[in-house]
Amino acid sequence: MAQPGSALAWGARGRRFESFHTDQTQKGLKRRCAFQPFFHFAMALCSNRRALIHSAGVLLNTQDLAGLSLAAFDQIVASTSGFRTRPGQREMAQRIAASLHDVSLGEHANPHRAVAVIQAGTGVGKSAAYLSTTVSLALQRKTRVVISTATVALQEQLMTKDLPALAAVLNTPFVFALAKGRARYVCKLKLERLAGSQGEEGSDMFGVDEDAAPTTAAYAKQLKGKDWQDPEERRMALYDSLANALASGQWDGDRDSLAEQPDPRDWSTVAAERHSCTARHCPRFRDCSYYNARTQLAQAQVIVANHDLVLASLGMKALPELDNCLIVFDEGHHLPAVALDQFSGSMDLSGFRWLDKLPRLLHEVAEKMGFVLAQDVTTLAQQLKTALLDAGRITMDLLRDVTATYDVVHRFKDGVLPEVLSDPMTLIQGHARGLSDALEALGAELKLRAKEDPPQAASCSVLYAKLGPMAPKLSSVVRTSAMLLAHDEQPMAKWLKSDTSSGLVALSAHACPIVPGALLNEHVWSQVRGAVVTSASLTSCGSFDFFLGETGLDVVAHVSTLAVDSPFDYRNQGELVVVETQADPRQVEAYTREMVTALIADLQDVRRGALVLFTSRAQMKSAVEALSGVLLERVLVQGQMARARLLGSHMARVESGQPSVIFGMQSFGEGLDLPGALCETVFIAKLPFSPPSDPVEEARAEWLKREGRDPFSELVVPATGIKLLQWTGRAIRTENDLARVICYDKRLLSTAYGRRMLQGLPPYAVSRRVRGQILAVPGFAA
Ligand code: SF4
Repeated sequence: MAQPGSALAWGARGRRFESFHTDQTQKGLKRRCAFQPFFHFAMALCSNRRALIHSAGVLLNTQDLAGLSLAAFDQIVASTSGFRTRPGQREMAQRIAASLHDVSLGEHANPHRAVAVIQAGTGVGKSAAYLSTTVSLALQRKTRVVISTATVALQEQLMTKDLPALAAVLNTPFVFALAKGRARYVCKLKLERLAGSQGEEGSDMFGVDEDAAPTTAAYAKQLKGKDWQDPEERRMALYDSLANALASGQWDGDRDSLAEQPDPRDWSTVAAERHSCTARHCPRFRDCSYYNARTQLAQAQVIVANHDLVLASLGMKALPELDNCLIVFDEGHHLPAVALDQFSGSMDLSGFRWLDKLPRLLHEVAEKMGFVLAQDVTTLAQQLKTALLDAGRITMDLLRDVTATYDVVHRFKDGVLPEVLSDPMTLIQGHARGLSDALEALGAELKLRAKEDPPQAASCSVLYAKLGPMAPKLSSVVRTSAMLLAHDEQPMAKWLKSDTSSGLVALSAHACPIVPGALLNEHVWSQVRGAVVTSASLTSCGSFDFFLGETGLDVVAHVSTLAVDSPFDYRNQGELVVVETQADPRQVEAYTREMVTALIADLQDVRRGALVLFTSRAQMKSAVEALSGVLLERVLVQGQMARARLLGSHMARVESGQPSVIFGMQSFGEGLDLPGALCETVFIAKLPFSPPSDPVEEARAEWLKREGRDPFSELVVPATGIKLLQWTGRAIRTENDLARVICYDKRLLSTAYGRRMLQGLPPYAVSRRVRGQILAVPGFAA
């Protein structure tokens, strides 16, 4: 795949600028750790798999380590009141201990590796199983554990519930911390300069992004009551108040700890982005919020992060190196999508005000330093702008040929850039590289002067911060144009997009690799020594094959798989009803009409909580428009209010004895925990196939076809099977729940692929509803 362009050397790799944060509440734990050491294990003495570990004069072999880590799990189960032994959970703990106890960490000529892929059904208690074993192993081996998740909800659960619970019962004290992207922290240097500027240089000082999307509607509403006439005055008042709070110690510089979240545009100007930071050469380095958080993180034995951060930090030494720690990827089913996103590129073809500013800035900074730029940056910027305008004009023409609407995605067949875009893209690539070389040289000079001449460090750091916002813009142009021009054996998905959601027509060009497994293999599994990959939904249609292929683990030698069943009695606690409509679900209009009529009738019977999952916004809109009478009061629709508020309203209604129904789409189909009365019925409007317009999915299907393979069977069915497993998983959340899933898509029973998906679901009692009559399904009856 295309490598990032030279502009990336300015700060890091494109938009992957991230940082860390240690949970302040863990200070007490840190003290315990310092004064009450329990285990005193030294480093492994040799690289052999039978390596001996020295502990306070006692030699332990690796089997002892496996036993100790399993004992830690048993200790937790025994010490937690109300906790019942679950066979599946112990099986999971056993597998982790057996897999990871003898992996080689650090420098090894021929390291032993292990990846345990474990699907743990709902209710298994997977976090206790992996935390107890991996943390215990890591403490014994004097190494660290990174727990990577996909959602904030799971991070919160780990940080506020699971890890404190583990710390309370484990004999060995340990420190745990949450790693966050560095843009969550304020840059003290920039904030102080802006707060003190009284608007002299104002927004121009650190480059307000004039091409960025306008202020969000929510923030605009928040500002309304504050009577600001001048946006600049408002921004300066914000920076003044943040600077005061930081200086007085009332605020720690973490954006998440602010009572009111600032507008993203205002915040981005003062964020501690890597590309605007001279790090140890900065005069504020010693009391920088970000670096303080990072120092605290370095002292933690357990780090909670997210998949984006783990992938973005590869090779940057911001998190423990993958070959020198244990890592758990929880919610591991997100890994393929995160990998594609991390290695994709996009380029704006309609907002170029930054390009007018860039040469001015370069000249101004170079002049202040007495530095001679090797490039004619004024001409290069003008040439780049002209080439981008050309590409934008051609894009408009191409899109106009495809459709008359303005919101459109146009993918290039077989990943081949049309001839007409080749020349402008080659010019864009050349000019952007020239500018990026100039920016990089100037940045390197600023850092050098800051290092060699400490009295100049402050002014050099400010100048560096001024240039910084240009780096990611240039790097995305360099990177994306390189990807669009590339002709690899395995094609990339390449597409143009026009979008009017901001009120103006925004044009952009995109490129994305299509095989996530190859990326993960190259960047992650080749490094990893000991990992657990887990989730409640890793198998599809009853097999791990699809997941292993998607993550590239199918070609890794040291992988084991285990599916641990949920402790729930699905056949007696749950029921899956497949409604047989007259219309074929592929006839969109007729099917939606019939499905909505059936759904509205079924909703009349909801007595407590229910969830309806739709596959598209249009489908959900049709159902909303069909609501009338009492149903209008009962239904809460995704997007009508913030998710937390919507869920809060739902809970309040159900708890007060009223019926309440949530209408949602894919993001409500996973991770939503509505136990008991909060969700007694899950309605599935249609089998959750990916929208046919997704350019990456389309490109993959096209490539597989060309290779003589069957994308529907290899890709579409297993991907839909995983989603269906997640969607149906919203129904039964505890051992006491009784719930129904009603699916209006008859293909689940009437087609071979539907039956394949059904085989991969928990063993619900399955029945058909035909013209109002419930009929048993042989082989699936209660
Ligand atoms: S070290 Fe200085 S420039 Fe870097 S983020 Fe901290 S305050 Fe800003």
